[in-house]
Amino acid sequence: MNISEKEIEGIVRQVIAGMTVSEASSGMVIDGKTYLGVFEDMNDAIDAAWKAQKKLYDMSVEEKEEIISAIRRLILEEAETLAKLGVSETGMGRVEHKILKHRYVAQKTPGTEDLVTEAITGDKGLTLLELAPFGVIGAMTPSTNPSETVLCNSIGMIAGSNTVVFNPHPGALMTSLYAVDLVNRAARSVGAPENLAVAVRKPTMETSDIMMKSPKVRMICCTGGPGVVRAVLSSGKKAIGAGAGNPPVIVDDTADIQKAGRDIIDGCTFDNNLPCIAEKEVFAFESITDELIYYMSQNGAYLISREQMRQLEGVVLVEDKKGKKAINKNWVGRDAKKILHEIGIEVGEEIRCVICEAQFDDPFVQIELMMPILPVVRVPDIDTAIDLAVRAEHGLRHTAHMHSKNIDHLTKFARAIETTIFVKNAPSYAGIGVGGEGHCTFTIAGPTGEGLTSAKSFCRRRRCAMVDSFRIV
Ligand code: NAD
Repeated sequence: MNISEKEIEGIVRQVIAGMTVSEASSGMVIDGKTYLGVFEDMNDAIDAAWKAQKKLYDMSVEEKEEIISAIRRLILEEAETLAKLGVSETGMGRVEHKILKHRYVAQKTPGTEDLVTEAITGDKGLTLLELAPFGVIGAMTPSTNPSETVLCNSIGMIAGSNTVVFNPHPGALMTSLYAVDLVNRAARSVGAPENLAVAVRKPTMETSDIMMKSPKVRMICCTGGPGVVRAVLSSGKKAIGAGAGNPPVIVDDTADIQKAGRDIIDGCTFDNNLPCIAEKEVFAFESITDELIYYMSQNGAYLISREQMRQLEGVVLVEDKKGKKAINKNWVGRDAKKILHEIGIEVGEEIRCVICEAQFDDPFVQIELMMPILPVVRVPDIDTAIDLAVRAEHGLRHTAHMHSKNIDHLTKFARAIETTIFVKNAPSYAGIGVGGEGHCTFTIAGPTGEGLTSAKSFCRRRRCAMVDSFRIV
């Protein structure tokens, strides 16, 4: 029997693919399900990612795109499972919105096309600037968008030829491990090496410390609150820090008030206010506040009195160790209906947001609640609105929103607040590509300046100079 060269090539490819599969001893069985890329020991996880990165670095762009396409396909196929898992494990968010978030991660997270080479030519020849991998990246992920962040980070990091070690939030562990496994199943399905994304079975501060100190980990990327961003910035490594926000919204008297009411409630209630970009407090011109509240109420908002607001503060806020008011984590990302029930108000499923009239100093204005509770503060004019909004954002420079047709007001607020994301006349999620232009990400790096991260954020710029040659003009 004669076997052609092509057939032999096919057999070899199959054998190699088979070997990769049998090598997948990394898979850990938890509650009867095998999770690829999950390790007991952080050092083992780092080693596996380190070896995988060497293989990934040798692969062609086309092969990397094959892996990324397979990840996208699996996310689309399993979006509902991921969404249900996230809600049931954390008790936070809404399944229908989490499905949508996963779809956007699959469809709008940039792949290798994000890595654009720059060329400089002149009398002295040609200089190239290429985007190269860091190697192994250590990543911390939040409980609020757990699988979305793992998957979005993985696509961008793999596109840049990096592999990634996750130390996920313990409160969303199984959802995060499911996402890590999905990345490896996708890689396996196209015969690529496994352990492109890995994680530990029990993430702790200790495993995080090992990860941050390992010489094999060349970059740290952290998505979470202020504590963790401080920690990564003191790691002594190249760090991407995506931290907390408290996005204000200004509505002036030139806005389409009916649309503003609907957009603000749509944005604020998306995944029960879990996204860090979601509307957290509103500053509305006095002259249009009643109308705005009316249209918010027409769109699923329930207005509570000041007295009821005080009652609700007793439910959703606690005192932290320093005696300061802080969120009661048990209420983060919960349904408005359940929140209202706690203060004796029974409403139907159509109610998705609690709104209240508040003063600037009220805790609901000052604290990043991450719950569908939205305080509305009346302001006399644009200068007061901007001043209060900037102060309520606490200098985080994360996200802000405005509903207005006055270009001077829009410009003035955008310049004053200096946020990474500024959304005009739309729900907040337009800022991450959901119903707005631009790519999608769940790691918005304000403190370290990468902004809306994508593959190129996870790469090093390298320069190659060819002197006196290679110009074609
Ligand atoms: P979190 O800060 O509690 O946890 C984030 C991650 O960091 C977890 O993996 C956690 O285990 C780890 N961590 C926390 N403190 C640490 C420390 N000192 N050292 C090492 N690891 C540490 O965040 P969360 O409650 O899951 O998420 C909500 C917060 O994250 C909100 O403040 C939200 O605004 C922010 N967030 C920001 C972005 C963004 O892109 N900027 C995205 C999502 C969430």
